[in-house]
Amino acid sequence: MNKADIYKIRDDFPILSREVFGNPLVYLDNAATTQKPQCVIDKITKMYCLENANVHRGVHFLSQAATDEHEASRRTVQKFINAASSNEIVFTRGATESINLVASSFCRKFCKEGDEILITAMEHHSNIVPWQMQCDYYGLKLKVAPINADGELLTDELSRMITPRTRLVSVTHVSNVLGTINPVDKIVKLSHAQNVPVLIDAAQSVQHCRVDVQQLDCDFLVFSSHKIYGPTGVGVLYGKERWLNDLPPYQGGGEMIESVSFDKTTFNSLPFKFEAGTPDFVGTAALAAALDYLTLIGIDKIAAYEHELLQYATEKLLSIPGLRIIGNAGEKSSVISFLVDGIHPYDIGTLLDKMGIAVRTGHHCAEPLMHELGIEGTVRASFAFYNTKEEADKLVKGVERIVKMFRNVKR
Ligand code: PMP
Repeated sequence: MNKADIYKIRDDFPILSREVFGNPLVYLDNAATTQKPQCVIDKITKMYCLENANVHRGVHFLSQAATDEHEASRRTVQKFINAASSNEIVFTRGATESINLVASSFCRKFCKEGDEILITAMEHHSNIVPWQMQCDYYGLKLKVAPINADGELLTDELSRMITPRTRLVSVTHVSNVLGTINPVDKIVKLSHAQNVPVLIDAAQSVQHCRVDVQQLDCDFLVFSSHKIYGPTGVGVLYGKERWLNDLPPYQGGGEMIESVSFDKTTFNSLPFKFEAGTPDFVGTAALAAALDYLTLIGIDKIAAYEHELLQYATEKLLSIPGLRIIGNAGEKSSVISFLVDGIHPYDIGTLLDKMGIAVRTGHHCAEPLMHELGIEGTVRASFAFYNTKEEADKLVKGVERIVKMFRNVKR
């Protein structure tokens, strides 16, 4: 994509033309959440203005229209990640809830005391704590595959850590801190070779590269709508039909039942078995609008442009004396975590904010990774396809200004 394409794309995102503290907004916190294109905002308005009625329940026109839209959205998600069937797409409230669903249902059905769950050292809290909770409850062991100094997963080590007691491997596709792209295809193959299913946390990958669940052959995959230009409050769980049929329901309530009596309840078919209560059908419709928008632009084009941005910003940032990048994997997504000698990340983040530049500072919900790296936190600039090289320049100039300020104060 050339400069003109990007500036045209930016016009689709109303928030990108606002100012912060008198400066044009430079939004570089896309790993936390992404901004929404007008088509997503319009879809939400349209749903509330024209099609608001509860789904799967009414015989009336509006309820049917909302149901059709909701189920069409499921098929859009299915196509986007190339799932074999729309029964394999479960809507949740987010990647976090999707992982909690699998952790809770999977461990209840398949895990006994002494069994093991294997994760990696670079997981987000969402892919640690749900497993830890199950481990405490059922007496399981949580094992953690290590990373090297560049922030790359040691896959041979991970493979060796799989034992006959390993019940599941749960691994992030892309690290939200380091940007590392894990070789999930290889991880699935080596885990399957030892008869262990794999969950992929795709919260930081589906928006950046093509994800094909059939090609990956993963057993479960999760992501959040709000990180892929859709609305908040919606998430996706993909599960192979065989697994989803085998797992017990997660939450009970309306929608997920076939029939209920005070003596016994039978459960609905897939995917409704896992969707208790009224789903966010406005949110799912808006997520589908976001996925259609990305498909129109082309996810491969997005991946190529974001890689260009990553290389550009990395090179420029590294020219700042005392700046070091945390996470130097060979395969990286457009996330740059960095530290500057003698300056606290929080100070950098606060001062950049005053220049209209939004970055994230802190442990990024990956405290164990911070301990592993021997640091307390980082400044994280995360790029989306609507970001420009000019914005990367502003980040670099901003950090340079801050470095100068601090050096002058110290003198
Ligand atoms: N996994 C990863 C890798 C993430 O970066 C995040 C969000 N930062 C999550 C899971 C959780 O996503 P959510 O808060 O939308 O449920």
